[in-house]
Amino acid sequence: MAMIACCSQIVAQQSSAKRPNIVFVFSDDHAYQAIGAYGSKLVETPNLDGLARAGMRFDRCLVTNSICGPSRATILTGKYSHKNGFLTNNYGVFDGSQTTMPKLLQSAGYQTAMVGKWHLVSDPTGFDYWNILPGQGAYYNPPMIEMGNKVTYPGYTSDIITDLSLKWLKERDTEKPFLLMCQHKAPHRNWQPNLKYLGHDNDRSYPEPATLFDDYAGRGKAELEQDMTIVKTMSRDDLKLVEPKGLTPDQLEKWNAYYQPRNEAFEKLGLTGKDLVRWKYNRYMHDYLACTKSVDESVGRIVTFLKENGLEENTLIVYASDQGFYLGEHGWFDKRWIFEESLRTPLIVKWPSVVKPGSTNAKIVSNVDFAETFLEAAGLPVPSDMQGKSLMPLLRGESPTDWRKSFYYHYYEFPGAHSVRKHYGVVTDRYKLVRFYGDDVNYSELFDLKTDPQEMKSVHDAPEYSQTRIELETELARLRKELEVTEQDPVEARRGGKNGAKK
Ligand code: CA
Repeated sequence: MAMIACCSQIVAQQSSAKRPNIVFVFSDDHAYQAIGAYGSKLVETPNLDGLARAGMRFDRCLVTNSICGPSRATILTGKYSHKNGFLTNNYGVFDGSQTTMPKLLQSAGYQTAMVGKWHLVSDPTGFDYWNILPGQGAYYNPPMIEMGNKVTYPGYTSDIITDLSLKWLKERDTEKPFLLMCQHKAPHRNWQPNLKYLGHDNDRSYPEPATLFDDYAGRGKAELEQDMTIVKTMSRDDLKLVEPKGLTPDQLEKWNAYYQPRNEAFEKLGLTGKDLVRWKYNRYMHDYLACTKSVDESVGRIVTFLKENGLEENTLIVYASDQGFYLGEHGWFDKRWIFEESLRTPLIVKWPSVVKPGSTNAKIVSNVDFAETFLEAAGLPVPSDMQGKSLMPLLRGESPTDWRKSFYYHYYEFPGAHSVRKHYGVVTDRYKLVRFYGDDVNYSELFDLKTDPQEMKSVHDAPEYSQTRIELETELARLRKELEVTEQDPVEARRGGKNGAKK
């Protein structure tokens, strides 16, 4: 197909074209700070960078609830956690009987497949084929569940998920359009690399985030009392100071050839204080970034397959992560917060027949928008109770004046891993108003991203921000009403508790 020059022609082309295929390549905990296309100098990601050069990079894609399972539930349903019912990783199961985007595509004649990390406790619904990791899954020689049957695959999980995805693509009915959800475990904790990438960084010393030694002054109890610091929370297992389980003798030999001499040298040094944190940070970066290399490789293999099989023009390929992640900023790893590194997730979309190559978009978009986008791309109606916005106008290069200018966020998992307090808030281009709540926590904070991009000091009580604060409070109340957020915390309501989200 010849290169198309202008928007109206693109629209006309699209409406008369046959229904597009949709390939959703998804990773777990992949920070935008670790993608070359987003300006990262930490690691090379040539395939993701190529995808961005050929498509559109979204610079402000925000998640509704920054944690693995709830993000997946939001993507499937086009709804916030309080509407799809999957609020936390540690309580409840996903109700697979509800309407989902894959089910709607399937009933409209799409072939649908889900391969990789599912993480919603109940079995997948709406897929002709599924082959998933149980729970968090394993990095090496992972057991998987293929349409209800347990199968174990030798090798590295990212390679296996890609192999299985490509196998399904090869065996599909070529007469029908398809939805493939290829969902990686990598680079989730505990960041176990493909053995071929051990030593990928030549023992590089990584640049230190400016806030690695943050003392949380200027913020409240929630930020101070979390449990996700490199200094305190990162375990010997995370740091590869103990041998992993589940490797073959051959694999373990390769693992030990890299880690053992370095671990011995580390133990001899007897590091303490900031030097110990720096050592841990560098080990973390080696491992985490090695995992991202495998995800990048997967993207490359899938793009190549589409190209070689004449599917490139009419395939909408999306790369995203389930949320952002901390790479040492504020001394942290993990996610969960409304704060920038956690809230923002990478989103790159390539669709040659629609999206202008090398374009970028700074509008506030979200994982709650994906379902509606895929449905509209397929020419299907969007159920009225979905809560996102189709990204189709943005993908066509339009700039709708009525696009959202504010975004609602809500995190529920406390008590839970990493001890991040329940909170909700409103996010705009410049500001964030957040309310932490619970039995012994009830306070609000306001951040001005223009003057304080690293979110180091709340200006909630500063007189010069009083008007802004009032406007944000009004907007927060409006969003909560529009999205039908209940006054009582829904997790507590289910448990029969009284601990609500009341003001
Ligand atoms: Ca995740």
